[in-house]
Amino acid sequence: MLDIITRKHEKRRGFIKSIRDSLPLSWAKRALYGPVYRWTHNIRFTMVATYIAVTLITLVLMCVYVIGVLSENLYSEKTTILYSKANIISQTAAEDWISGDDDLMNLRIGAIIDHQLAGTNVRGVVTNVSYTVLYDNNNEANMNKKVFMRNVLKRALDGEQADSSIDADSGKTISVSVPIEKDGEIVGGVYLSENVSSISDTIGTIRKSLIVFSVLIIFIIGLMSIAASFIVTQPITEFISVAKSISKGDFSKRAKVKGMREIAQMGEALNFMCDELNALDAKRKNFVSDVSHELKTPMAGIKLLCDSLVEADHPDIATIREFLGDMSEEIDRLTRLINRLLTLSRLDAGAELSVSEVDISALLEGVVRSLDNIANEKNISLSSERNESETGLVAVDYDKIYECVYNLVENGIKYTPEGGSVIARTKYINNECIIEVEDNGPGIPDNEKTKIFDRFYRLDDSRARDTGGTGLGLAITKEAVLLHNGTIRVEDAPGGGSIFIITLPV
Ligand code: ADP
Repeated sequence: MLDIITRKHEKRRGFIKSIRDSLPLSWAKRALYGPVYRWTHNIRFTMVATYIAVTLITLVLMCVYVIGVLSENLYSEKTTILYSKANIISQTAAEDWISGDDDLMNLRIGAIIDHQLAGTNVRGVVTNVSYTVLYDNNNEANMNKKVFMRNVLKRALDGEQADSSIDADSGKTISVSVPIEKDGEIVGGVYLSENVSSISDTIGTIRKSLIVFSVLIIFIIGLMSIAASFIVTQPITEFISVAKSISKGDFSKRAKVKGMREIAQMGEALNFMCDELNALDAKRKNFVSDVSHELKTPMAGIKLLCDSLVEADHPDIATIREFLGDMSEEIDRLTRLINRLLTLSRLDAGAELSVSEVDISALLEGVVRSLDNIANEKNISLSSERNESETGLVAVDYDKIYECVYNLVENGIKYTPEGGSVIARTKYINNECIIEVEDNGPGIPDNEKTKIFDRFYRLDDSRARDTGGTGLGLAITKEAVLLHNGTIRVEDAPGGGSIFIITLPV
């Protein structure tokens, strides 16, 4: 997994480097991959930038929508009012309409318009079908009896109600036009226009307030997101520093377990990893020193024997033989130790199990047969018990389980005084195959019952060495049993001595 991540990272770095090298201008390289890139390419900047960007987009959309809806409402309300006034004027004018007498119409329509538009700043113009103004209430630009052409008016004289929301010239007026109909015939048109700069001013003021409000919100969100990004990244920075210490071989540092749940869990996991690595490192150091110590003893013995032979003036052949015999024994001890270390390292590396269906009782009988001579030499009664009604086959690696049972039975013979007994037996309980090796030797004190499975651990160091023990037999047995998902423990035997119990899943 780590490999894949590293490879991906290297690939990306290579890609960035190739782009960087292919860029022609040094300022462009600096801009893209210089301090700005480093400064922006981190969680804090990304978090703050994301928060601000999201807020900014939301506020802009909100402002555009609010301003849009507001102006739409205000303008259409104004247009509706103008239409209703224009319609009233049109209907009243139609009732009083006399074609051909413009002066009379000027008076009549003037009275209507002045009445309808009193108190407003609406300009009102009424024309006949040939666009000649019959009345215009704007005294400054008085168009009476002149031709008054407007697009909206033209459309009204064509028979439709027309409006142009914003006058193209000023950008601040709304104009509407409606036809005047008498006896089903269009006889003229009403044109009303109103200056709506107050609406634009209102919208402008609201727009300014919204912008100030948005800037304030972005400022607050910016501050909050900076604080949040610090809260999130502070522990990560600390984790990185702890991880760096680990990579340098310093397992003493621990991360603070606090803050948000996931972050705290991350800290816990990191600390747990530190503890495990620490324990592993201590184990490794102990193991190396134990191995050196174990190798040193036979080597020193061999060296001493060699020196004695070299320094002896005229050693007789019997002495030479005796010394060489002792050397051979030391070499045997070394070989045994090295073989056991190799076995252990293979088990540590997660050796493959070559599983087959094994009759465990038969396996026990085989072990007993092969150790029978050694037991006889010590006058120890060695036997195996097979429960005929409960025999069965168990899927295990034959060689590994054989070695486990061999170690236990050999230990039984080794540590039981002359005249004692060692029994190996199998039981099947609840889908488990139980192998027991019982002896009536010295037994194992309660506080040592778990320690004896540690590497190089011996109860009585000198006695165990004298019996040729390496202190690795039980460690190898435990590793092999664990590889089979089994368990191993030692208990006191009922009649004194100990029972080693291996449990294997069937
Ligand atoms: P060794 O090669 O020294 O026997 P082991 O790992 O097999 O190493 O055993 C570890 C220690 O456990 C031994 O040194 C011995 O002190 C103790 N031990 C093992 N088996 C027995 C036993 N059956 N009775 C008493 N002590 C035992």
